[in-house]
Amino acid sequence: MKANDLQPQPGWTLARRAERMNPSVIREILKVTERPGIISFAGGLPSPLTFPVEAFRAACEQVLSEDGRGALQYAASEGYGPLREAVAALLPWNVDPAQVLITTGSQQGLDLVAKVLVDHGSRVLVETPTYLGALQAFAPMEPEVTGVASDAEGVDLADLARRRAGARFLYVLSNFQNPTGRTMSEARRQALVQTARELALPLVEDNPYGELWFDAPPPPPLAARYPEGTIYLGSFSKVLSPGLRLGYMVAPPEILPKLLQAKQAADLHSPSFNQRLVAEVLRDGFLERHVPTIRALYKAQRDAMLEALAREMRGLDVQWNAPDGGMFLWARLPAGMDAVQVLPHAVERGVAFVPGSPFYADAADARTLRLSFVTATREQIDAGIAALAATLRDLATR
Ligand code: PMP
Repeated sequence: MKANDLQPQPGWTLARRAERMNPSVIREILKVTERPGIISFAGGLPSPLTFPVEAFRAACEQVLSEDGRGALQYAASEGYGPLREAVAALLPWNVDPAQVLITTGSQQGLDLVAKVLVDHGSRVLVETPTYLGALQAFAPMEPEVTGVASDAEGVDLADLARRRAGARFLYVLSNFQNPTGRTMSEARRQALVQTARELALPLVEDNPYGELWFDAPPPPPLAARYPEGTIYLGSFSKVLSPGLRLGYMVAPPEILPKLLQAKQAADLHSPSFNQRLVAEVLRDGFLERHVPTIRALYKAQRDAMLEALAREMRGLDVQWNAPDGGMFLWARLPAGMDAVQVLPHAVERGVAFVPGSPFYADAADARTLRLSFVTATREQIDAGIAALAATLRDLATR
């Protein structure tokens, strides 16, 4: 007998909120798709071709020689002053830098919102479908998440009014939504803000993709029209680099101090070195030169996927949309097919996507799926969409 056998085993008891935490379905899928030879439209990663490596090399040099010790020290929880100012200046409405909180990715913004605004059983309204990472961030606070019906223009306001009772907020993605790629129309934005005002309903607007438009910028954000009732989340992940883990939130003055306290408890502050790097990179209007190159690349990628879909899906009852920006396209399989069940067959043929169901707060449309068009090459897009079409033809004749 070993000495250890006499020791009582540690009795871990999970908190109730831990039981609400699930492995991200997407991360599980990505494990399969990382197998060599698989063409993946599943990931949510920006194209690494867009990362401005040289600008960051120069900024590192500059930040370290200017005030290297300051840059490596602990810093203020609100964020680096010049970066807060730069964020306020980037936004298309009048934002006081004091209202800007720098976060560790916009994902942290979602976590802080949940901690500050959601109790056990609180009603939280989301679009149908919505960003899976937000559902994950909200889940540990044990909310009652309710999907509001949505169409190609955004949330259905009649359904919103029906479901509104007692809701803490509506979480909404106005531009090039993850997962559907859709953008809320100008008319719907106006009507939503009017309805939110009438119902005194707070909004949480998540806008990481707004700058990635292809032909024309989307209408101004909801926060620009309803700043007193909106927490706005932005990110540097899609316009500079996701590895920096830097995002920001703009919140009304009565709620910002609570978000700040929640952030202090979470991580004291976001990486101060990275904040100084971004402030340095942003000087002299860098984004105005850089973001158009991302738009041009992603637009060409979207076009390649639309062409491949039109060519390969002929004769199959598959529907898809043509997003005006962002990274994702949303598709719907023929009646009777379930994207979760189709996926392993597609992987067998060498192509992967993300099924739509995990993006629904309640009843899912099992036929839906999300296709990222930004990381595959043109040849991979052609071959991958052909493989997907072959999979569907094969399943349809079984
Ligand atoms: N919101 C949405 C809608 C997203 O798609 C993502 C990234 N997938 C995030 C928030 C989180 O992004 P980050 O934390 O990198 O800013």
